[in-house]
Amino acid sequence: MAVLGYQEKEGESLTTFYNLITTKSAQLKHSVKPWQKTTNGELASRPYNKERIVNYAAALQLISKKTTIPVPRLISFGESNDGTAWIETERTHGGVWLDVVRDQCRMPAGKQHVEDGGECDECDRIARANARRYIAEEVVPQLNSLTSDTTGLNGRVIPPLWVTFHDKTAYWPPKKLKSGQPEYVFCHGNLHGHSILMHAETLHVLKIVDWDEAGYFPPEFQVWSVERADYEALYENAEQRKRLTELML
Ligand SMILES: [Zn+2]
Repeated sequence: MAVLGYQEKEGESLTTFYNLITTKSAQLKHSVKPWQKTTNGELASRPYNKERIVNYAAALQLISKKTTIPVPRLISFGESNDGTAWIETERTHGGVWLDVVRDQCRMPAGKQHVEDGGECDECDRIARANARRYIAEEVVPQLNSLTSDTTGLNGRVIPPLWVTFHDKTAYWPPKKLKSGQPEYVFCHGNLHGHSILMHAETLHVLKIVDWDEAGYFPPEFQVWSVERADYEALYENAEQRKRLTELML
């Protein structure tokens, strides 16, 4: 899975889908042109590439206004005539992806769990437990309190990556609730170890980022995991995928 939306170093990098510019105080994520070739010759496009950026901005506005969930501060965003869009957010310092915590012991000198300060299972365990508790107790209840009678967000439906990886339906129209159905709830859509930014020293949740696929979905699709294997298993879960497309298309 591509690592997007956060990097510690300043500079510019072109991923398969975005041009990412990081300065001291901000980060600019600009979608590449549809079907542009990247430096390694890959075709730089995927469904909803521009819409993801626009959707991320809309989700940040909603989440920062209606919840206490920590998200990057939105500075600006917009669309260009060439079929691309961009979003500028305040840069977050001192963070580390949950999935990367394990790479080294995060404790200060003298209190380290491993002698050489290298790979640390204990830091990984602490960080995942903190993230699991925080998401279950603080994030998900607040997301579930945001409800709608229409799928997607502001007229856009961006299905989760574990669906679009297989399902190539070009357009998912917003769908209205049928009577008797439970209301749609707001979902992050891609909540796992590479969208959860942890404080590199305290190992508590610092920010929840990458709300590109966020929107209103049936409550049973409020799915997330702090365990990478669980999250990746979603990609192979044909039944779950079938269920979502039946309810949403
Ligand atoms: Zn450690």
